Amino acid sequence: MNRELLKDKKRIVVKIGSSTITHEATNNLNLIKMEKLVRVLADLSNQGKEVVVVSSGAVAVGRQAVGMKKRPTEVKEKQACAAVGQAKLMMVYQKLFSEYNQLTAQVLMTKYTMINDISRQNARATFEELLAMGVIPIVNENDTVSTDEVKIGDNDTLSAIVSALIGADLLILMSDIDGLYTDDPYKNPDAEFIDYVERITPKLESMGKDSASDVGTGGMATKISAAKIATDSGADMVIANGEDIRNISRIMQGEQIGTLFKAHKDEAFKLMDYLKTEQYSD
Ligand code: GLU
Repeated sequence: MNRELLKDKKRIVVKIGSSTITHEATNNLNLIKMEKLVRVLADLSNQGKEVVVVSSGAVAVGRQAVGMKKRPTEVKEKQACAAVGQAKLMMVYQKLFSEYNQLTAQVLMTKYTMINDISRQNARATFEELLAMGVIPIVNENDTVSTDEVKIGDNDTLSAIVSALIGADLLILMSDIDGLYTDDPYKNPDAEFIDYVERITPKLESMGKDSASDVGTGGMATKISAAKIATDSGADMVIANGEDIRNISRIMQGEQIGTLFKAHKDEAFKLMDYLKTEQYSD
């Protein structure tokens, strides 16, 4: 697929993983990267694009703020960390975006927001309204009330669900890996990079081994299942390395960055079909 086509994308969801906006050693926010990120996103908005951000980091930032050394394991610990961290995260986003006179909004969702017909329709209408107002919604799972029992679970999936919900035409997953490889490149030096995926085959799915990093929750398996949701709903999806924030602009300029999964809109696509799979059932 010609990468130049990405230049014309209008409604873009950008997923930012915890590892992209925090320092690995401390879990503190990486302010320089956040500044770059916000500048790139504000500029996309200035170009007339509609931008939605799905940002992780609530738990990681909260964990750091309360001085918790290890990754929280208990539900109540995770929920408490998220409550502290989400507010801090939004404070920083709002401060940085306001430097470019860009309004943002916080949207926190749970699985029930999507499963319940009325709340899903209301959520969609709210996104439409925010985008019409020129606001950049910053989305996360409502981890404070949804860890465990009602969780979507990871923001790769959440960002694909949001893309489908609002009919985005492009989803960019900024991750801690360059894209899709034939094997885990950290373990296998012969692993080959895959820059384009026309169709997600069962073979490809089996290649996505879970290699969750210390701060985020998404491995390659969740990224491939996110790609299925996004591409079936009609959005192209690119996985790229969040190490270099300029990758977002490069992708939007049609450069060959990361792995592109091609959209093939399934006319029968129903978001609910994805939400009702075993993974999401009560
Ligand atoms: N919602 C989680 C957080 O903000 C992150 C989930 C994820 O990284 O996939 O901490």
